[in-house]
Amino acid sequence: MIQATLKQLKAIFSDIRKTIVGVIFLAVVGGAGGVLYLSKTLLRVSTDTLKSPTPLWATIVLVLVLGGYIYLKTSKHHSSLHSKKPKYYKYCPDCDVGISAKTHGSYCQCGTKYLEKCPDCNKRIVRDSGRVCSFCGHVFPINRIPVS
Ligand SMILES: [Zn+2]
Ligand SMILES: [Zn+2]
Repeated sequence: MIQATLKQLKAIFSDIRKTIVGVIFLAVVGGAGGVLYLSKTLLRVSTDTLKSPTPLWATIVLVLVLGGYIYLKTSKHHSSLHSKKPKYYKYCPDCDVGISAKTHGSYCQCGTKYLEKCPDCNKRIVRDSGRVCSFCGHVFPINRIPVS
């Protein structure tokens, strides 16, 4: 009685093992087939692209290279602009123009004396336009009598 049960159990276990092996085998074969299919598709797509009358791949490569070149150039340009940007300015409120604080001369070409510090909070000017202090919001007075 017990032996019969054991036999049955063994049979069931062996069945399960067979099933597992089968499933694994199927999965491996299926996976390999899938990979093979994918690589075949890729190969076909790439050969199709290479064989296509309008060289699509050339266009793609060209666009990529051009995009990279433009990106590099603009980013370099930006960084060089950024590094060249002065930290402090001498500012003419009449012209709404600032020059680097390191530039010689205290007077703008219009005759107005450059502001080097905010007359209100006495902080150095860090912007070259806008007629307003970046720190306290003081609006720089225009000395010139506006032409009407
Ligand atoms: Zn000026
Ligand atoms: Zn200020």
